[in-house]
Amino acid sequence: PQFRVMDANEPVKNALGLTAASLRKSGVRMETALSDAPLPCYADGNLLLRVLLNLIHNAAEAMEDLPGSRIIQVKTAVESARVLISVSDSGPGVPQRIRERIFEPFYTTKSDGTGIGLSLSQRIVMDHNGTIRIDQGELGGASFVVDIPAR
Ligand code: ADP
Ligand code: MG
Repeated sequence: PQFRVMDANEPVKNALGLTAASLRKSGVRMETALSDAPLPCYADGNLLLRVLLNLIHNAAEAMEDLPGSRIIQVKTAVESARVLISVSDSGPGVPQRIRERIFEPFYTTKSDGTGIGLSLSQRIVMDHNGTIRIDQGELGGASFVVDIPAR
């Protein structure tokens, strides 16, 4: 791992750049609200990028079969010495009864899923002394929040 002091908006922008074309092609609208102020944190940008790609990928997959508008929202903010990165979608959300389980290795509800994405993402965020949680999203679907210390 290559930890350094960085602006967490960097890996977020990289993730948006890497996913923009394929999301547009599959009819998903990406909405972003990135903090104008830098988000200083001690992080490995490649590892955070992997987390973001996992979350965006899951969001897109959750909306694959949905008719109508499909939206992914990515927001960043710094709040009381925490850097917050959220990925929300307008899909069906995560049913309450499985919320405890989705971070377990190999837990998947997809016929072709691996169940690796969220467990790996949680591991990575924990290595940044942070947490990843499901929050109440504004879009009605799932909203994952990555919360790491600012510095
Ligand atoms: P996989 O994508 O291979 O199933 P993950 O660890 O990435 O493995 O996700 C585990 C499970 O969490 C998924 O199978 C799905 O049930 C649930 N999940 C993750 N992200 C979302 C989301 N954005 N909306 C609804 N369910 C989700
Ligand atoms: Mg996944």
